[in-house]
Amino acid sequence: MKFLYKRIVLKISGEVINGINTSNTENHILYTIAKDIKYLLSHGIEISIVIGGGNLFRGASLSKFGINKVTADYIGMLSTVINGLFFKDVLNKFNISVCLMSSIFMHTMCDSYNLDKAKNLLSNSVVVIFCGGIGNPFFTTDSAACVRAIEINAEIVLKGTKVNGIYSDDPCNSTDVMFYKNLNYQDVLNQEFKIMDLTAFSLARDHNIPICIFNINNKKSLIRVLLGKDEGTLVS
Ligand code: UDP
Repeated sequence: MKFLYKRIVLKISGEVINGINTSNTENHILYTIAKDIKYLLSHGIEISIVIGGGNLFRGASLSKFGINKVTADYIGMLSTVINGLFFKDVLNKFNISVCLMSSIFMHTMCDSYNLDKAKNLLSNSVVVIFCGGIGNPFFTTDSAACVRAIEINAEIVLKGTKVNGIYSDDPCNSTDVMFYKNLNYQDVLNQEFKIMDLTAFSLARDHNIPICIFNINNKKSLIRVLLGKDEGTLVS
């Protein structure tokens, strides 16, 4: 089996973590992802994860509620730490070694972000979960995924979402939509697709890191993307 990429950043949005209070645990998508990660590790893939927090708090929604934007973004970043703790535990249940690194230092709960340490762990089959975004307000975890990918020399950013990739229009609102298998950075920036924030795309463009947007709910989609099978939209 030939995988196209060795070191990856998987971006998991907070929405993927939704439903943990209601669903049958073993069937939850996070368990499925954990199994796929275990499989990929056994094939030598080096996996880092940037986790979002939108299932709990987003800065933009909180500031609409009247919360100061900087405070709102810190609340958002803290929610990514909560999700990071959660997913680390799920991965540990599958005997996967994980290091949770936060850009906001809170050493009793998790490691502080350290680039050299992260690279070293990845080369030793440890999954590194980056939480806390990049540690600054006014950014999102999409941008954090691209920043971390650039820093650790990842070969691709994989954004797992609930849709199959990028469409010309919202497929929920229109039937006359086109699905894009491949796009270049400039097309995405010009057309301002809403699937990922534009700062993330321009970082990826400037550092020539491909981004694949795919439906993480499709069975084995993470593995299929890495094998170069027909899955998602590749922006490169
Ligand atoms: N956030 C931030 N700086 C960062 C990353 C995230 O301020 O570097 C805040 C921002 O308010 C954001 C929230 O954390 O809305 C949660 O992250 P995001 O919206 O990216 O989560 P996702 O949509 O992926 O679940």
